[in-house]
Amino acid sequence: MRTIELAGASVAVIGQGTWRMGEDPSRRREEVAALREGIELGLRLIDTAEMYGEGGAETVVGEAIAGLRDQAFLVSKVYPHNASRAGVIAACERSLARLGSEVIDLYLLHWRGQYPLAETVEAFERLREQGKIRRWGVSNFDVDDLEELNQPGCATNQVLYNAEARGIEFDLLPWQQRQGMPLMAYCPIGQAGQLLRNPALLDVAQRHGCTPAQVALAWVLRQPGVIAIPKAVDSHHLRLNAEAAVLHLSAEDLATIDAALPAPTRKRALEMI
Ligand code: NDP
Repeated sequence: MRTIELAGASVAVIGQGTWRMGEDPSRRREEVAALREGIELGLRLIDTAEMYGEGGAETVVGEAIAGLRDQAFLVSKVYPHNASRAGVIAACERSLARLGSEVIDLYLLHWRGQYPLAETVEAFERLREQGKIRRWGVSNFDVDDLEELNQPGCATNQVLYNAEARGIEFDLLPWQQRQGMPLMAYCPIGQAGQLLRNPALLDVAQRHGCTPAQVALAWVLRQPGVIAIPKAVDSHHLRLNAEAAVLHLSAEDLATIDAALPAPTRKRALEMI
């Protein structure tokens, strides 16, 4: 699978999301199996957060990577209300315990909250020095937030990006590309909602003999410096997602999608879910 460089690590451009995992104990076995199968398929970057299932998703991830830690690239996130100098350290230690791991590969501030960014960054740097995280980044930051942050050590910014939510193409995505900061696209298949029923995606999928979800992923990945983190528990979905890494959309395909879901022509407020 194609990889990109993320602050000294080489990561596959398609990873695995975990939102909604760890909420229902009756689904736990299936979720653990899905994450393990995803790793085998090369979807080694696993994105989680202390928020997901209030720690439940991290516990599922911990179970899934038991014995496979070296094969996974773990991403987790701290809640903004825990992002104080001391709060980040304590939250990270709780996450590490749930993940059953000694280190998180990439630790993100989930979104901006009440604490000064400098305080959060200081705590991230301390965690890095202590070997509890390997690198850090942010999520749901717009250009003005990243400019205010002004930290070359910020490894990524994780934001909403799919063919229905293209606002970042106007300024944020080019800004990150200029800085060489990979962008991690969340909800890349629009949470399997109306995006997958859009006639343009259906049309392109038919041309390639693939599914609209695969088109949605290939569309997000058509740009350099982008990583997509679809969440899939269904084994069939996982395999289709891994295969989407080799799907190449033609200029005609992109024009079909642009006509239905146009690129932004002015600044839009950063969309979040
Ligand atoms: P996604 O766009 O990844 O959609 C997930 C849904 O799509 C699930 O219902 C899944 O079903 C289905 N699906 C997966 N693959 C396919 C496929 N090939 N064909 C059809 N359906 C498919 O939405 P998410 O909200 O989960 O976003 C992805 C990840 O991004 C999250 O899990 C989370 O890790 C992260 N995220 C981060 C946020 C942030 O603020 N930083 C906010 C939101 C998400 P099934 O599970 O049954 O396979």
